[in-house]
Amino acid sequence: MVGWVDEWWLRLLAGLVGSGLIAAAAYRARSLSGSGAWSAMIMGTGFVTLGEPVWFGCLIAFFVSSTLWSKWKKRHRAKAAAEANYEKTGRRDAGQVWANGGIGLLMCAGNALWPDTAWLFAYIGVMAAVNADTWATEIGALSRTAPRSITTGKRVKPGTSGAVTPLGTLAALAGAAFIGGVSAALLALPQQADAAAGSAPGGAAAVIIAAAAAGLAGCFADSALGATGQAMYRCRVCGSETERAVHCGTAAERVRGLAALNNDRVNLLSSVFAGLLGWAIGALF
Ligand SMILES: [Zn+2]
Repeated sequence: MVGWVDEWWLRLLAGLVGSGLIAAAAYRARSLSGSGAWSAMIMGTGFVTLGEPVWFGCLIAFFVSSTLWSKWKKRHRAKAAAEANYEKTGRRDAGQVWANGGIGLLMCAGNALWPDTAWLFAYIGVMAAVNADTWATEIGALSRTAPRSITTGKRVKPGTSGAVTPLGTLAALAGAAFIGGVSAALLALPQQADAAAGSAPGGAAAVIIAAAAAGLAGCFADSALGATGQAMYRCRVCGSETERAVHCGTAAERVRGLAALNNDRVNLLSSVFAGLLGWAIGALF
C-alpha cells in the first residue's frame, strides 16, 4: 500500500514523534495555540502513517515557509494596523489547522484506501492554494502599491477582504509553485510507490504546473469569495470594519455577507475548488 516503510506501526510511531516535536516547537515559538498544536500533531501523524513522504512534506513546506514569512514580516514594521482587522492573527488554532490541512488528510486517507494519482494532484492543488494564500497575505501586506478590490477593481484599504496587489499576486504564484517544486523533489526520492505522481507521464513538470495554476486560481477564488460572500462586521465600540464577529469585547454588527461564511469556511471552499483544479490538471498529463 504505502511503499516507503512497510510496517504501519513504525510509520505511526515516526509520525507521532516527528509531528509531536514539530508541534511542540511551533507552540513554544507561538506559531500554534494549544489546540492548534494538538491538531497539528494528530494531522501530521495521519499524513506520515497513511501517505508517502510527499504528503507530509507538503504540509511541512507550507507550515515552515509561512512561519518564516510571518516572522520576516514582523521585523518589517510596515505591517500596519490592518492586521488587527483580520479575524485571526499570529497563533494558529485548531480551526485554522483543520481548515488548512483537513481535506488534505481526507485525500491522503482516500489514496491509502484506493491508490490513484488523482488524489495526490488534488492534494497538491489544495496545499498550493493554502500556501499561495498565506504567502500573499504575509508578503502582500508589505506592498507599497495601494491594493485594489478583486471584484470591483477600485482602490481599497490594505487588509480589506479581497484586496489584491501585484506584489501579493506574485507572492501567491511563488507560494503555489514552491509547493509544486517541493512535491516534485520529494516524488523524485527513491522508493516512492508506483502510485506516486512522479512516475506519471508529465513527471515533475506536471506537478509544478498543476500546483502553480491550481494554487493561484484557488487563491483568487479565496479573495473573491472573501470580498463577496464572507461575513463582515462593524464593531459597535470602535467602529472599525472587521472579519471578527466579536470586537472590543462585544458582538459586532454584521454589515454584509453570510453569517455562516466565516474566514475558515471561505478558506475551506476555495481549497476544495483548488483541489478539483489540481485533479483536473493532473488528469491532462
Ligand atoms: Zn472594536
